[in-house]
Amino acid sequence: MAKIGFIGLGNMGLPMAQNLLKAGHEVTGFDVSPAAPSKLAEAGGKTAKEIGDAAAGMDVVVTMLPAGQHVRDVYLGNGGVFARAKPGAVFIDCSTIDVETARAVIGEASKKGFLMLDAPVSGGVGGAQGGTLTFMVGGSDAAFAKAQPILEKMGKTIVHAGAAGAGQAAKICNNMILGISMIAVSEAFVLAEKLGLDKQKLFDISSKSSGQCWSMTTYCPVPGPVPTSPANRDYAAGFTAAMMLKDLKLSQEAAKAAGASTPLGANASALYQKYADSGEAGKDFSGIINYLRGS
Ligand code: NAD
Repeated sequence: MAKIGFIGLGNMGLPMAQNLLKAGHEVTGFDVSPAAPSKLAEAGGKTAKEIGDAAAGMDVVVTMLPAGQHVRDVYLGNGGVFARAKPGAVFIDCSTIDVETARAVIGEASKKGFLMLDAPVSGGVGGAQGGTLTFMVGGSDAAFAKAQPILEKMGKTIVHAGAAGAGQAAKICNNMILGISMIAVSEAFVLAEKLGLDKQKLFDISSKSSGQCWSMTTYCPVPGPVPTSPANRDYAAGFTAAMMLKDLKLSQEAAKAAGASTPLGANASALYQKYADSGEAGKDFSGIINYLRGS
């Protein structure tokens, strides 16, 4: 069993670390907020007083942090992971961050002789708790081979998407599709309402025809047709509008840097900004239908 350092024990990181404990690994956790490591300790984990203590002597270090700057600080900072980890250690960054930072930090890791992957996830807090996350992984074959058995304890689907940064690229491309498709489905229901078309009838037809997509059939933004969708519980998140906005902004930064034309992605990002600014940042992202009705 591996000695694993886990840095960033928030909504996602804590249950992921708990699943590694359940699998029999020795897990040492660190978070800037003191409450989170104590919850890990209650589950049988160890707690580190500073970042470096969650890296020193570890076979594997997993990070689950809010954004690119946190990832740079944790890995590259004074007394951070690179400064304290042992030779041959494997680092797995599961945070959703910009492609450029992922490539830069993995590049620094390889210069220092470490193996490192970007491995963002989809599946949300439920997937983290149930160990059913999807991991989209970027990095070398050697790093992937060492990390795969660890990732399998936290997720169900593990895809090696390509070289460093490919995991982040896959994540933001997927979530750009999701943001755009949720707006498309929402606009269709708003138009149907105005045209006097019953929402269930639109669902029955569209879910079986060319308008079919995940935003329609799994996460339908109107209450009724899909009883498990957040629309049936007043848009309690799920996946918040703030998180969708974060991912759409990352997609637009990447599109700009790569010279890709993504006009619908840009519009989706602007609409989610307005929806979040209307005081709904903490609601589920499918609640954008209410913003579209009113705008
Ligand atoms: P969160 O805010 O609940 O957790 C982040 C944790 O990192 C916090 O506990 C915070 O105290 C800690 N942290 C911040 N800076 C730190 C540092 N320097 N050292 C140690 N700990 C530090 O966020 P989350 O919901 O767990 O999300 C984590 C990542 O996963 C984000 O990148 C997010 O975009 C991504 N993600 C989240 C979801 C979701 O549904 N919550 C789904 C997919 C991906």
